[in-house]
Amino acid sequence: MLILWISYGRGDAAMDLMAARERMVLDQLERRGISDRRVLAAMRAVARDRFLPPEFAEHAYDDGPLPIGSAQTISQPYMVALICEAAALAGSERVLEIGTGSGYQTAVLARLCARVYSIETIAGLHQRARAILAGQNIANVELRLGDGSEGWLDQAPFDAIVVTAAMPGIPRPLLDQLAPAGRLVAPIGEDELQTLVRIGQRAGAWHEDYFGECRFVKMTGKHGFRD
Ligand code: SAH
Repeated sequence: MLILWISYGRGDAAMDLMAARERMVLDQLERRGISDRRVLAAMRAVARDRFLPPEFAEHAYDDGPLPIGSAQTISQPYMVALICEAAALAGSERVLEIGTGSGYQTAVLARLCARVYSIETIAGLHQRARAILAGQNIANVELRLGDGSEGWLDQAPFDAIVVTAAMPGIPRPLLDQLAPAGRLVAPIGEDELQTLVRIGQRAGAWHEDYFGECRFVKMTGKHGFRD
């Protein structure tokens, strides 16, 4: 009897999280204009609760960032979806992610492209993300510990570079690591407020598109913010 009760209890919690995830996709993503069917499917498939410290798991589908330790945050679901949509991925791309953090966006990207290369500068978060991603059998991801503001030269060029920490400007080394039709999506601006920018080449000239205001934690490292 007791065993039955426990298994029912667990099932309910899992069902609640699945229902909350579905609501998140409808209310936070579709209603705000995310329309790429592949991005919506990836956001439906990846369990954000697995990337959170256990005490925050029940808030996994809330509409905002949450703490993941080391004074860093997991991004708001909408921001993850917006960055992925802006990156315009069809499935065959090699993508560089700068700022692995929890690994949540890494897992979403892994469903949208061929291979993800993700760099994190904080050792504890890098190891934590590695363990979580391995536990979910996500095989097309390579993680590295280091300063991502300089990119990942050995693996360049990339079809897309996505940056999940705020940068004061667009570092030239990152643009140099883009494939000819590549695009970089990044929050660019002040330390408290940024604009989500996509930059890529069109007809031989750099072209920028803007996706609204956002607020990310600061990028550190060579091309990050100096404190
Ligand atoms: N998309 C991640 C966001 C994590 S927050 C998620 O949803 O979990 C941004 C991350 O960028 C932090 O983990 C921070 O440590 C990392 N970061 C900051 N500066 C960096 C740098 N120069 N190189 C690599 N990672 C960096």
